[in-house]
Amino acid sequence: MPPFFKSFPTVVGLLAATLVFADTARPNLVVIFVDDHAQHAISAYGSTINRTPHIDQLAAEGVRFNQSFVGNAICGPSRATLLTGLHSHANGQTGNRSRFRDELPTFAKTLQANGYDTAVIGKWHLPTPPNGFDHWAIKRGGYYNSAFETPNGRESSSGHVTDAITRQSIDWMTHRKNPFMIWISQSAVHRVWAPALRHLDHYEQQTIPEPETLFDSYSGKNTGASTAQMTIARDLFPAYDLMLPVTGEGILDRAGQRMLDTFTPEQRARWDAAFGPRNRAFAEADLRGDALTRWNYQRYIKNYLRCVDGLDESVGEIRDFLKNAGLDRNTIVVYTSDQGFFLGDHGWYDKRWMYEEAFRTPLIIHWPGVNSPGTQVEALVQNIDLAPTFLEMAQIHSHATMHGRSLVPWIRGQRPEHWREALYYHYQMIEPASRTSHLVARHYGIRTQYHKLIYFYDSKEWELYDLLSDPREVLNQYKNPLYQPIVRDLRTRLAQLREDYQDDTGPSFRSE
Ligand code: CA
Repeated sequence: MPPFFKSFPTVVGLLAATLVFADTARPNLVVIFVDDHAQHAISAYGSTINRTPHIDQLAAEGVRFNQSFVGNAICGPSRATLLTGLHSHANGQTGNRSRFRDELPTFAKTLQANGYDTAVIGKWHLPTPPNGFDHWAIKRGGYYNSAFETPNGRESSSGHVTDAITRQSIDWMTHRKNPFMIWISQSAVHRVWAPALRHLDHYEQQTIPEPETLFDSYSGKNTGASTAQMTIARDLFPAYDLMLPVTGEGILDRAGQRMLDTFTPEQRARWDAAFGPRNRAFAEADLRGDALTRWNYQRYIKNYLRCVDGLDESVGEIRDFLKNAGLDRNTIVVYTSDQGFFLGDHGWYDKRWMYEEAFRTPLIIHWPGVNSPGTQVEALVQNIDLAPTFLEMAQIHSHATMHGRSLVPWIRGQRPEHWREALYYHYQMIEPASRTSHLVARHYGIRTQYHKLIYFYDSKEWELYDLLSDPREVLNQYKNPLYQPIVRDLRTRLAQLREDYQDDTGPSFRSE
């Protein structure tokens, strides 16, 4: 029996113990699930490039999981894992266009079946319609004036999408029945990083510090690292990603024009007033080489951080609403993202790789009256743990088939026995070869507290990182004789993890 199933009786025992405390009404659950928000753009996680006061406040009152990771750092798969508590190969959503096994148990279906009023508002990104929700409003469109698909048809909205999702979520919570669960699925800070008008001038007078690896040579890395199309230097599209003037050339340039076409005349005027003079100065500077890369980075990261400012304000608005509605004392608030993001790290934007910046994801949970304020947890946790956690919060036993384990003991300040000592990761999305694809090599791997072993199976290349001495992951130690005992140990444990999780997708490495 796999180790995580062996530990199930322990979880049941803890569940029984926690039921003793169940003398209050079942808590409400607000899951603020954002898109592409890296830990290192949150000041509670030590960001050196921005401040996030409302998220920090949630962490100060709640529990911050410092070693929080995903199992497959890409949008659709991460949502499928959130719902099912299963790694991608088991829930079917291995890539953005894969087939989600909608018949599987999900935390939403189970909460709904157990009397919770349930809603999802915002980004959905699964091929099947929402299932397990009494209400849903799924965003269609971009950052401005988006439409929302609802059970009653298509509804329009005005303004910035973060504000629209926040507004609709608060409106639903105003009219909800108790107990309730709402998945607030923010679509920021996903590409194209279009900030709200009120944030367009933030950071403009600053120079944001560059990451140490902005000019990574990819020396020692798999051959796919230097050919992936996600560089700050070459793969940000002028009109689409960098808010430069539309020239009419190329598919993403036309997409840039489509975004401008969604603006009202007033929004367009404010947008042009902000970017027009900056773009003229850029054209006059005629930058080349590293200077152009540095400019691209500043333009990209400032817009990214402006979008984060909108998310942070939204957290404040939601918590203010809960307080004013008298719901704050019995409502759990979770802040997490579908995965992290490269903020110029390794010279990249985007995600997908098992490297720390994308693999890590923020996870902050505030359970009023249950957690000690400012708790920090160093255990290895993963997005497979969220569904079992939400079920235990609602005093429902987890589905034994879920890969994850409930985090409730950690939230209560307990140390559950036999907690996992290693995480499994598998990215296997295949994109068509085109200029607009990122073309990240498929890989799986294992991460312990101190080391990470990755296997790029198409090129049969391995990478080993010593995370204590090399947290930026620039020194591949796989062939270093000093590390061979660790390589052997991690290869064995990786094979065991694939067996435990029954992942037979992607080739085995034992025969090589
Ligand atoms: Ca994402």
